Amino acid sequence: MTAADRPASAGTAGLPPLADFGPGSVRVPPPGDPATFAALQAEIRELARKHDAVILAHSYERGEIQDVADHVGDSLHLSRTAAATSQSTIVFCGVSFMAETAKILSPSKRVLLPDLAAGCSLADSITVEQLRNWKAEHRDAVVVSYVNTTAAVKAESDYCCTSSNARAVINAIPTDRQILFLPDMFLGLWLQRVTGRKLHIWLGECHVHAGIRPADVEKWHRDEPGAELLIHPECGCTSQVIEIAGDNAHILSTEGMVTYAQQSKAETFLIATETGILHRLNQKAPGKRFVPVNREAVCQYMKLTTLEKLRDSLALGQFEVDVEVDTASKARRALERMIAIA
Ligand code: SF4
Repeated sequence: MTAADRPASAGTAGLPPLADFGPGSVRVPPPGDPATFAALQAEIRELARKHDAVILAHSYERGEIQDVADHVGDSLHLSRTAAATSQSTIVFCGVSFMAETAKILSPSKRVLLPDLAAGCSLADSITVEQLRNWKAEHRDAVVVSYVNTTAAVKAESDYCCTSSNARAVINAIPTDRQILFLPDMFLGLWLQRVTGRKLHIWLGECHVHAGIRPADVEKWHRDEPGAELLIHPECGCTSQVIEIAGDNAHILSTEGMVTYAQQSKAETFLIATETGILHRLNQKAPGKRFVPVNREAVCQYMKLTTLEKLRDSLALGQFEVDVEVDTASKARRALERMIAIA
């Protein structure tokens, strides 16, 4: 794949600035008024009870959304929760591929996404037609898709994975099989390194993580030399950063960061991922200090969900997410393999 083949929203070096299209055209709504949070959260809890709904929130969501949710976590944790929940309605405070995933795993339940504009530049970086063409070039290869993909792409995949279990998924595939890994190139490069497997890697990226650069880390490493650096494997800085931070650098999924911070004796952590995770880290590891290496690492899609939109979603049953039956059935197979391996 060349840069010219990429969809505009992929945000690649050499293409026009992001502000000109794709993620740049979706703006983060202004912060809500904290004085209104408690009343809105009480209203939301009451609506959730009335409509037999469970509220799931990704750890990149606004703090006030995380605080009102029944479950907060990364994609893998939330996928499992969606499959196991007893409520008849799932409200997904996250982005559209996550709501689709919940619907695929729980087809008899109603799945709501509070804002339909909540997309994902990484999921947009490969279409199902591009994947079919790629598979045609490597007919015997096993296809492993990061969970940040559309339902149609999952349906063309053998396995899904998240950053929490990607290494285990690659290790579960026989060593004599070729692997197509998509869509995140930084996660793919990291997987090659930690598994020792040669992968065919799609050149997609998340514009938020790709925007965290080695210079951000160098600055903080100079200013906070004793801090431990926690890096998400989607970051564009990953390999260079290992050189800079040495033994103090740890490549972890978002849930891995929470567990690591809780168990580590260190007091200060530099965080290289979307800044919404800081809310969760501060709650789960109180008394420790968490510093984002790039304060602008904010996913505008994740921040689209506000308390008002969540309340309206519950009150009005909007916006219901559906996945075509055949696509869902094929995608479920790849997702269930992911869940079984983790
Ligand atoms: S942070 Fe990146 S990968 Fe996650 S939802 Fe936003 S655009 Fe997608």
